[in-house]
Amino acid sequence: MSSTQELDWQSWADSEDQTTSGVYTKQGPPLVRGVGARLTDASGQEFIDCVAGIGTGNVGHSHPIVVAAIQHQASQLTICPEIFHHEERAKLQRRLVDLGASAGIERVFCCNSGAEAVEAALKFAKIVSGRPGVVAAMRGFHGRSMGALSATWEKKYREPFEPLVPGFSHVPYGKLDRLDAAIGDETGAVLLEVIQGEGGVRVGTAEYLQGAQALCRERGAFLILDEVQTGIGRTGRTFAYEHFDLRPDLVCLAKSLAAGVPIGAVLIGERLGAIPGRVHGSTFGGNPLAAAAANAVLDVLEDEGLCARAERLGGQLRAQLRALESPHVREIRGLGLMIGIELKRKVGPLVTALRSRGVLALGAGATVLRLLPPLVISEADLAAVVAAIDASLKELKE
Ligand code: PLP
Repeated sequence: MSSTQELDWQSWADSEDQTTSGVYTKQGPPLVRGVGARLTDASGQEFIDCVAGIGTGNVGHSHPIVVAAIQHQASQLTICPEIFHHEERAKLQRRLVDLGASAGIERVFCCNSGAEAVEAALKFAKIVSGRPGVVAAMRGFHGRSMGALSATWEKKYREPFEPLVPGFSHVPYGKLDRLDAAIGDETGAVLLEVIQGEGGVRVGTAEYLQGAQALCRERGAFLILDEVQTGIGRTGRTFAYEHFDLRPDLVCLAKSLAAGVPIGAVLIGERLGAIPGRVHGSTFGGNPLAAAAANAVLDVLEDEGLCARAERLGGQLRAQLRALESPHVREIRGLGLMIGIELKRKVGPLVTALRSRGVLALGAGATVLRLLPPLVISEADLAAVVAAIDASLKELKE
């Protein structure tokens, strides 16, 4: 890279820092391009991407099928609020319903982000059940808007904004007796992740998740599954609930559904019944650009067999990581290509060491390294990730 190019990006990065809201701290490289599981920064250096836009790039960056769909749709019509019909939205809703049909999914609400999908699901559960209470899980993360934040557990996100929405309680994830005790006459919904992502890649068990579903049925509450991070092939199934044969009442999707074009969706199950008209809405929800991108993502997922690939590569990767037998590692867990490495120490230095070796990864809580590579990542790149983790762990001080 020439020094002029370096100055170029330094000046716009400085300008970005001067004009940002300040809610983020940026530590990584300034990114300019992505192809598949590779990212390039402004200086021309390449990285293997195990962040994937925080779990957004399941089909990889700049997938030609997705690029073509976005380009074509942008040339036709980008905005068409749901007060009008649109073919791409019609197609997307039908495909999502078909994908969820065996679990009783019948309808779809379209929106623009994970938090919006959670807000919509909470509102639907409340309006239909007539009950305001929501039981969520400790270590759960559901977004930053006021309703989703009320369901999020981490104090540092919640406390500055109290009072939040009333009626929310949190119980330990995985403890059915505590969930049982928390569901009362006023509980309209139980909101859970199938794998707690931000909370440290903690995989729910069949006993817990099926038990939660049974309790909801018994007490007349709705089961909302937040699959914003686990959905669209990430765990080796289109939806992570498929691993556990669940029939959720509402499923929240976002992130990877449109490969980075902002989107959210709520899948609505057979038990929910009619949602009264006009109780919710979104100008951009189901817009043709996002819907076309999502339809292309679903094509790629199917045509390239990415669920099976995530399951196979994820199994391999976990086995290779376990074989490292590092004294710094407490546990390796996950499903498909959603993998958490729990350390016996803080994760920050490992993230930094990996970056210096050309691998971008995320923390999940204070001690967990989270790997969310695009499902199209090559086996050679995954081997390079394992080698970088091995070398970085060895470099950590005792
Ligand atoms: N739900 C889960 C499980 C998430 O992981 C996230 C984001 O990380 C959200 C909801 C919020 O999604 P968004 O940032 O698109 O609002």
